[in-house]
Amino acid sequence: MKTRVCRLYGQHDIRIETDDIRPPGPGEVLLRMSAGGICGSDLHYYQDGGFGPIRVREPIILGHEVSGTVAALGDGVRGLKEGTKIAFNPSRPCGRCRYCLEGRPRHCSEMRFSGSAMRLPHEQGGFREFMVAQAAQCIPLSDRTSLAHAACAEPLSVALHACGQAGDIRGAQVLVTGAGPIGALCVAAARAAGAAHIVSTDIQDATLEVARRMGADVTLNVGRDAEALSPWREDKGRFDVAFECSAVSSALQDAMMAVRPGGTIVQVGVAGDLPIPLNILVGKEIALRGSHRFDREFEQAAAMIDGGLIDVGPIITGSYPLEDALSAFEAASDRTRSVKVQLAFE
Ligand code: ZN
Repeated sequence: MKTRVCRLYGQHDIRIETDDIRPPGPGEVLLRMSAGGICGSDLHYYQDGGFGPIRVREPIILGHEVSGTVAALGDGVRGLKEGTKIAFNPSRPCGRCRYCLEGRPRHCSEMRFSGSAMRLPHEQGGFREFMVAQAAQCIPLSDRTSLAHAACAEPLSVALHACGQAGDIRGAQVLVTGAGPIGALCVAAARAAGAAHIVSTDIQDATLEVARRMGADVTLNVGRDAEALSPWREDKGRFDVAFECSAVSSALQDAMMAVRPGGTIVQVGVAGDLPIPLNILVGKEIALRGSHRFDREFEQAAAMIDGGLIDVGPIITGSYPLEDALSAFEAASDRTRSVKVQLAFE
């Protein structure tokens, strides 16, 4: 059997190729892939050949935000049948290392994460027509669920994990800086977790409109008006919690200034070095917490999408067939018009 795949050979070198595909083995399923979201990490691989110390060192099929339908079952697979729609969990921890045994598999020392160039050989991803996958990584969904929406389970699980890092946010005043896919999904996750009031900031009106549709009460273009947050800086700061999703220095400064004493900033956006105003961090006793990927939140995210608790539809701003992967990557690179761009495989 053959499958078309989207393979990255290096910086700006994406090729659509045809591979042979083997039948599923014990505990595996053959998936007919449906949708695949382009993530910031996929974009870095494409634009820069990697990010930080992680480099593309051999050809890699990108993609870790994918969904599909079960096309065939290997031996011993239960709970799935041919035709079942699934959300694919790209996280495959070892289950044996210190962090797995501590119940924090997201920090697994031997993590195999789909479409990641961290390890060698690279973990191949899901931007393809067919894929053999571990059945345990396939979360079954109801027939009515959109597979394009199901492909947002991975970024939604990142947002749910970020929310969990903030603790109980019921009734909280929440700031979300950065209105890309993760920022917009943090808005929705904070809304679902009971936040009382959510302000979203960005420098693009188009992404802010998506954040508004995802549940933000107030959207502020801080590119046009750098002082837009000043009412929330009064009295040492008004927000209980901030989710910093941009990894931009000025956004972290904004969050520091606008969070109340004793408040929490969850750093979700990731980059290299950013300056941190320690006088504010210390003086206001701000808790600054990182948030990395997700664990059990993937099943929650899939269930929330499946059950209609969160409508991820507004974040999907474009969909391109596999043959047009280059156009899809170019569109995803353009923040003036794109939030989440997907590839469609069928
Ligand atoms: Zn492990």
